[in-house]
Amino acid sequence: MACDFYQLATPGVQGLHPYQPGKPVEELERELGIKNSIKLASNENPQGPSPVAIAAIQAALGESCRYPDASGFKLKQALSDHYGISVNTITLGNGSNDVLDLIGRTFLLPGDEVIYSEYSFVVYMLVAQSTGARAVVVPARDWGHDLDAMAAAVTDKTRVIFLANPNNPTGTWFSDQAMRAFMAKVPENVIVVLDEAYLEYVSEPEYMSGLALQNEYPNLVVARTFSKAFGLAALRIGYAVAAPAITDLLNRVRQPFNVNIPALEAAAAVLSDSEYLQRSVEQNRTGMQQLEQGFAQLGLGWIPSVGNFITVDCGCDAAPLYAGLLQEGVIVRPVANYQMPNHLRVTIGLPDENNRFLAAFARVLKQQSGKADTL
Ligand SMILES: *Cc1c(COP(=O)(O)O)cnc(C)c1O
Repeated sequence: MACDFYQLATPGVQGLHPYQPGKPVEELERELGIKNSIKLASNENPQGPSPVAIAAIQAALGESCRYPDASGFKLKQALSDHYGISVNTITLGNGSNDVLDLIGRTFLLPGDEVIYSEYSFVVYMLVAQSTGARAVVVPARDWGHDLDAMAAAVTDKTRVIFLANPNNPTGTWFSDQAMRAFMAKVPENVIVVLDEAYLEYVSEPEYMSGLALQNEYPNLVVARTFSKAFGLAALRIGYAVAAPAITDLLNRVRQPFNVNIPALEAAAAVLSDSEYLQRSVEQNRTGMQQLEQGFAQLGLGWIPSVGNFITVDCGCDAAPLYAGLLQEGVIVRPVANYQMPNHLRVTIGLPDENNRFLAAFARVLKQQSGKADTL
């Protein structure tokens, strides 16, 4: 009889489903035989990479026959200079997803508890489950983190807490004051991971990075990425900032060459391109207004977002609307896997892309309400 390899996998892995990424443009165009489709599904920077980053990548390609610098010396130095953090607090990852995974492999055993919020980034679930830890999902408040309830969910089995500020897929955020109150309640032997993937987009005065709290709370790990505002999603580069002991542990688990040479070079270069960052943030702000106005005109509600995406309430099952948008060559992100079947998450695009999405969305909504009327 043939071996059932599924039975050989660890129980955590047996229960996993593969991560569902946003649909690639090439796949949609292949399937429908269309061209010029647009993707507003994965919270990428629509401007294209910084010219400074492209130059660094091109210059690095000649080194492709070599292994990268396993210590990432140059990029760590650049991060250290830019953010005023010590080199021995930085762990580089193949995207910040890699760093989240390293935290799971370093601190979690089967039976341990991991706390995260309802409607929060799916990778926290993947990390917990793949290690066999038990996920404790705390109900959200107004689509965001209920930090009081999360602190109250800590038990003597809790090892790791994942927080996203701002949160994906809802775009909600919490204040520096709320974060301080939370940290004061969490025992020092619980690792708190604060995922700041969208930090650069936030302008709320009461928002603050967790870096400022790390002296007081050495159990606080900050995760960051170059995939969003810095426009380097394809290169897979992110990092954690943590106490030197935690950093040492993460680096024991980390694959030595987890970050490639073009990524190391481009990330170091783009840090100095403040004009690119400013342009990205500004374009995001106007694009956000454009989509909010469009949704208001369509009579739809949305979750107020401080990220580079907005999650709209379609007021009905969003699956047929998603499918209708695909037919129009517009890829957005269904969030039914987050138990949000009536919502769609839309990444802020360039002005033309936002217009194209809004026009297609209006047509698709009309078609659907036409269908509903004839039922
Ligand atoms: C996009 C995103 C990341 C970044 O992932 P990378 O692996 O760095 O590309 C991390 N956390 C959240 C919440 C995100 O939405």
